[in-house]
Amino acid sequence: MLIDDLKAMKETSWLNDNLASNVLEELNNSAIKLEQIEQARARLNRFAPLLKILFPSTNATNGIIESPLHCANFFKQELEKLHKCKINKDLYIKLDSHLPISGSIKARGGIYEVLKHAEDLLIQNNLLNTNDDYSKIIKHKDFLSKYKIAVGSTGNLGLSIGIMSAKLGFKVDVHMSNCAKEWKKRMLKEHGCNVITYDSDYGVAVEQGRKNAQNDPFCYFIDDENSHNLFLGYSVAAKRLKAQFEALDITINENRPLYVYLPCGVGGGPGGVAYGLKSVFANNVKCFFAEPTHSPCMVLGLATKKHEQICVADIGLDNITAADGLAVGRASSLVGKVLERVIDGCFTVSDENMYRYLGLLAQSENIKLEPSALAGVRALSIADELKLNNENAIHLIWATGGNMVPDDEMNEYLKTAKGLL
Ligand SMILES: *Cc1c(COP(=O)(O)O)cnc(C)c1O
Repeated sequence: MLIDDLKAMKETSWLNDNLASNVLEELNNSAIKLEQIEQARARLNRFAPLLKILFPSTNATNGIIESPLHCANFFKQELEKLHKCKINKDLYIKLDSHLPISGSIKARGGIYEVLKHAEDLLIQNNLLNTNDDYSKIIKHKDFLSKYKIAVGSTGNLGLSIGIMSAKLGFKVDVHMSNCAKEWKKRMLKEHGCNVITYDSDYGVAVEQGRKNAQNDPFCYFIDDENSHNLFLGYSVAAKRLKAQFEALDITINENRPLYVYLPCGVGGGPGGVAYGLKSVFANNVKCFFAEPTHSPCMVLGLATKKHEQICVADIGLDNITAADGLAVGRASSLVGKVLERVIDGCFTVSDENMYRYLGLLAQSENIKLEPSALAGVRALSIADELKLNNENAIHLIWATGGNMVPDDEMNEYLKTAKGLL
C-alpha cells in the first residue's frame, strides 16, 4: 500500500491511473490556460533588454534566463554500476542549477512574477507601455522603491525573488523557514533584503508572510502555494527545451518519447514545467515528480485526492530532509488540481540516495548540485516500476539547483556522499 510505504519512509512510487485521454483539452480546461504560456514567454522577451543590462550573466543569451542541456552518459554508467541496472538510450540533464541570477529553478517562476508585478505597477502609473524598450525601467527605481515584495521560502525562492526585487528597487521581506541555509540568508542581506527567520517549517513562513502583507497596501505577497504567475514563469521552459533538443538533431515524437524527472516541493516549479512540457509534446512526454521520503506532500495529495487538505504530519512524517528545497509538508492548492489527470506519476527518494547521486555526478561529470536537485535520478533505477519501457526514450533529469552553493558547504555534501558510496 502506498500510504504504508510513505508512513514507513520507504522509497516508493505512484502511477496515475486516471490520465486524461486528450491532454491539451485537459490542460486548457484547468485554472491555467494554454495561451497564458505564450503571454508569459512574450513578457520575458520584453524584459530581456533590461535583464541584459542589470545582469551581465545573461549577456550570452541576450537577456533570456535559460540553462544548458547536458548529455550525461558518464553519470549514466556510474548509475548502472550503483543500482546494477541497465539504462537504455541517452541520459540528459537540464541544468537549472546553472540558471543565471540565482542558480536554481526559481530563477524561472520567482523572477517572472517579480517582473510581472513591476510591469503592472509601471503600466498602471503610465510610466511604461508594452511597446517600450524595457531598459528604460532602470530610471524608475525610485518609483518602485515605494513598493514592497514579500515571500515565504525554504531558501531558493527567497533568493530569486530577493535578488531580482532589490535590483529593480523594491523593498523586500523574505520569510524563511527553519531549514533555510545560513549562506542564503547572508546573501539576501547583502542584497539589502529584510530576512525574517522562523523556527518552524515552510508552511508557517508562508502564512506569516501572507499575514504581514495583508496589512500593507504597498506590499505584494508572492504566494508559492497558490500563484498562477509563478506557475506560468516555469512553464516557459518547455518550448525552449524543444529548441535545445532540435539543435542536437533530436526530435521528440511517438518513436522517441521524452521521460522527465522533476524534483517537487510545493509543486509550482515542477508543475509549471510539466504543464509546459505537456503543452508542447502532449503524449510524447512523460512527467514524474520526485520527493524526499520525509516530505512526500504532492504524492500524498494526489493519491488521496485531498491535495492541500492533507499534509505529511497527518501521516506522522517529520518533513526534515537534506533536500531543503523540497522540505514542504503541504502541497500547493493549485498544482495538484491542474495536473491530477496529466501527471504520469510520482516517486520518493531517500536522503542517502540523493547524496549518493550528488557524489557520483560530481565525480563523473564535474557537475555539483544541491541534494534537492538530484531527487529525480532515482527514476532511472526503477524504470520498470514506473513503466518506462520505451527503449528509444530520452531520459531527462531536471537538475533544479546548486550552482551558488558556497565551496565549504559543497565540500560537506561531497564528504557525506563519499561516506555513503
Ligand atoms: C524549489 C525547488 C524545487 C521544487 O520547486 P517547488 O515549486 O517547491 O515544487 C526543486 N529543487 C530546488 C533546488 C528548489 O529550490
